[in-house]
Amino acid sequence: MANLVASSSSLFPTDLPSGNGLVGIARLAADGQTIDSGYQVEFRSLKVRSILNRTSSRRGLTFGRSINPYRGCEFACRYCYARYTHEFMDLRRPEDFERLIFLKQDAAWLLRQELRQLRADEEIAMGTATDPYQPVERRALITRSLLEVIAQCRRLRIGIVTKSTLIERDIDLLQAIAAHNRLVVHLTITTTNARLARLLEPRAPRPDLRFETLRKLRRAGLQAGVLCSPLLPGITDKPSALDRVAAAAKAADASFFCAQPLFLKSCSKETYLGFVREHFPELESMYRKRFDADAFVSRAYARRMREMVRTVTRKHGLCERSTDALLTRELGGLDETPDAQPGQGSLFETVLPRKPGKREVPRRQRLSA
Ligand code: SF4
Repeated sequence: MANLVASSSSLFPTDLPSGNGLVGIARLAADGQTIDSGYQVEFRSLKVRSILNRTSSRRGLTFGRSINPYRGCEFACRYCYARYTHEFMDLRRPEDFERLIFLKQDAAWLLRQELRQLRADEEIAMGTATDPYQPVERRALITRSLLEVIAQCRRLRIGIVTKSTLIERDIDLLQAIAAHNRLVVHLTITTTNARLARLLEPRAPRPDLRFETLRKLRRAGLQAGVLCSPLLPGITDKPSALDRVAAAAKAADASFFCAQPLFLKSCSKETYLGFVREHFPELESMYRKRFDADAFVSRAYARRMREMVRTVTRKHGLCERSTDALLTRELGGLDETPDAQPGQGSLFETVLPRKPGKREVPRRQRLSA
């Protein structure tokens, strides 16, 4: 972790809870050292006991393992549902998630130990709670160090989710991993409109740059597709908007295309509604009506979105990912333990070529990033 050296000063000296009385991850977070800062962002070290987290539902079903090299995410997407992971550290202001980034220490060493517990064919999803290629990765190299460990493995199933062009840096490693494991990369691209993307995902790379990254991953022989999630009511959920993303995905040779509706957990609701109020004030009452009583869209809306996604995937000859849900009530919700995130199961059920006209067979609902 060259250049990231611990210091005692903090950009937010009064914001962090003191370690007194805290336990577990909150205690470890409070003990973290400031190691760097950027524009209104502070990076802190985080000692963790484990890097490979088991993700399970409240009903005890295991969906796989997840790795999140960082806690917090500088990309600051207005709809981000992972803000609650900072709440586990007793950091409850929504903006802490994007301004106080924790770097997990000794991640590669931990992974090497923990991989010994895994069976062949186990699933590992990287980046389900925070982006593994957020800006600090350029210097911290934690994600790369983890991929170097994974590249020694055989017969694992690896899913990576990112919005970042920085993943191009690791194409060599991704190829090495894909040679002996199943690897699927998901580029999250919610809109082709660069101005809208700047508002929605303030510090993530422009959509056209993400499509270019996708193209490079595909040219490198990697399986990579577009996750056009979340679909935002009244903003990105129009057929024309989805069609543009699907067309660009096709042009970039995406291996698959999928999209899921927005859900608004309490941790993300006010941040997202603040964005709506500022930029789409006419939509606020609609959002309140839809999400005040429930974090999830109605079944009817979800069905309409599914149909719309099917229509554009067919139209552009894209493969559809074999998952149906982002996080639905049918699934009963996930354990809200650190790093327990929607997505792990679904990252590998990928790429089913659609046969036009074939009758839909209901599939087991899965969680999705
Ligand atoms: S890139 Fe993902 S984890 Fe990061 S802020 Fe955006 S939605 Fe959240």
